[in-house]
Amino acid sequence: MARESDTLAVHPCFKFREKPRSFRFDGKTLFPVSALQESISTFPKRERPKVRDQTVDRGVTRIIAQAALLTVAVIAVTQIASYAIWGGMDGGYELSIVLAGVLIPLSTCFPISLFLLLQRNRLADVLARLEAVHGELKERSSRDAMTGLLHRQAFFERLTSTAGEAGVVLVIDVDHFKSVNDTHGHAAGDQALRSIAETLEKVTGASGAVARFGGEEFCVFLPIADEFEGLKLGEKIRRQVGRIEFSPEGVRRRLTVSVGVARHSSGDSVELAISAADAALYEAKRAGRNRVVCSPRKSQPELGRDVA
Ligand code: GH3
Ligand code: MG
Ligand code: MG
Repeated sequence: MARESDTLAVHPCFKFREKPRSFRFDGKTLFPVSALQESISTFPKRERPKVRDQTVDRGVTRIIAQAALLTVAVIAVTQIASYAIWGGMDGGYELSIVLAGVLIPLSTCFPISLFLLLQRNRLADVLARLEAVHGELKERSSRDAMTGLLHRQAFFERLTSTAGEAGVVLVIDVDHFKSVNDTHGHAAGDQALRSIAETLEKVTGASGAVARFGGEEFCVFLPIADEFEGLKLGEKIRRQVGRIEFSPEGVRRRLTVSVGVARHSSGDSVELAISAADAALYEAKRAGRNRVVCSPRKSQPELGRDVA
């Protein structure tokens, strides 16, 4: 049984053991519908929050109370108006007028306001779902279907949204990947790309951004000020990719990557840093692959070189 401290409340109706991926849209934090469903389905049955029931129950009780309040207000106004009109007349303000002033609002105002308030509630519910679905579609459209990494355009948008934050850009290309496909088939190649993508995300961490730029080429941005830190990150990536357990047809095949590193200064265009990192990647390939090269200091010694 999960303790309260193991869960993370993100909405009165939802509790998660792990924080689902969220994103900001129109000033609100949204969670993909699939994340909510997955998270709820991971709860043991008796622990599962009864999302729909709770929402509906609370909503209906509130709506009945609002309709009743509105009806009472109409009755009060009717009574005051009736008294103002007939109260002064001799014998004019009778019990039948008082009763009519209660029964007519009760039989008309209460059901009509109940109906309208329920409709408003349903509309709000549908709008919230639409927003969630819209958010999920937006999130999906920004990601590469195979690896789950950002697309090139989404990567640029992410970096632009951080107001030109300085950092390092790494362009990573898998070495001799064509031969992986040729030897083990396209499906095995896809698996290798997924494993590499996973490794890149792990090494980069939550503060960075990782994208698949197409084919077997990836790009990483990390908001670290120092080029040498960028080189160290590239080296870590290179080593970790080399450790991936990729064994198509039962035989282990070592994957290697070449990495180009460039510094991205605050205020400069990201494209500038990427083309510098690309040039450094070209150097790494030309120098024999499976290595990390930093731009623009081409004279800088390369870090790490393992013979595959
Ligand atoms: P280099 O070390 O010079 O980068 O050599 P390479 O073989 O990696 O580069 P090349 O550009 O010759 O080949 C890239 C290969 O990547 C060719 C293409 O079939 C393969 N590829 C591109 N996208 C995918 C994909 O989504 N899945 C798979 N399995 N292969 C892909
Ligand atoms: Mg390649
Ligand atoms: Mg390539």
